[in-house]
Amino acid sequence: MRDALKFARTRLAIAALLCLLVLPSPMRAQEQPPKEEGTFRAPDLVELTELDKTIKLDIRYATPNNFTGRPVYTEARAFLQRPAAEALLRVVRALRKQGYGVAVFDGYRPWFVTKLFWDLTPADKKQFVADPSKGSRHNRGCAVDLTLYDLKTGREVSMPGEYDEMTERSHISYAGGTAEQRRLRDTLRAAMEAEGFSVYEPEWWHYDYKDWKFYPILNLSFSEVGRGHARPGK
Ligand SMILES: [Zn+2]
Repeated sequence: MRDALKFARTRLAIAALLCLLVLPSPMRAQEQPPKEEGTFRAPDLVELTELDKTIKLDIRYATPNNFTGRPVYTEARAFLQRPAAEALLRVVRALRKQGYGVAVFDGYRPWFVTKLFWDLTPADKKQFVADPSKGSRHNRGCAVDLTLYDLKTGREVSMPGEYDEMTERSHISYAGGTAEQRRLRDTLRAAMEAEGFSVYEPEWWHYDYKDWKFYPILNLSFSEVGRGHARPGK
């Protein structure tokens, strides 16, 4: 009898352990983006590296070198909705005349990643991450995080603060840093604003495309983009 009880307990313990191992699997199975009212344009996400060979990727979220300290993307890729991607291409061509290319940190971001960022960010830093109950413009494929690089050296320029730095140095109006750093930040801003992007003031690297409200919040992983959900770039 005692052995039978012990056996049952062992089986229960094993079952509980298996549950622990299996249940915390994909967050996206457990949580979903907010339901939105209204009609939206059909998503048409374009892969940025297919637009122009000088567009560099520096997808920090596919590496441990980001504010979460671990990779949150399984692939280093960047997408934007087609009108935003075409506007970015015009930005790239304008900047080329000044000797700069763009390095993209992030474009379209699946909603489940926005939720993860929110959960990992302390309350006093939440201005730097989007509220998942509202979604991010990155989730709509209409926001891009980027910097400039020198076309001659291939090296990213030095801005007044680092990407994803959660301090006042990230503000677009931060008066510190060197005059050259501020000039580069303002060069990027002028080029982006000329093509319908607007900066998110607390973050010099974040730009929203003017049509963001026409696109729904998406929760597709990068490998799902282009599989009938959205056409790949031409
Ligand atoms: Zn951003």
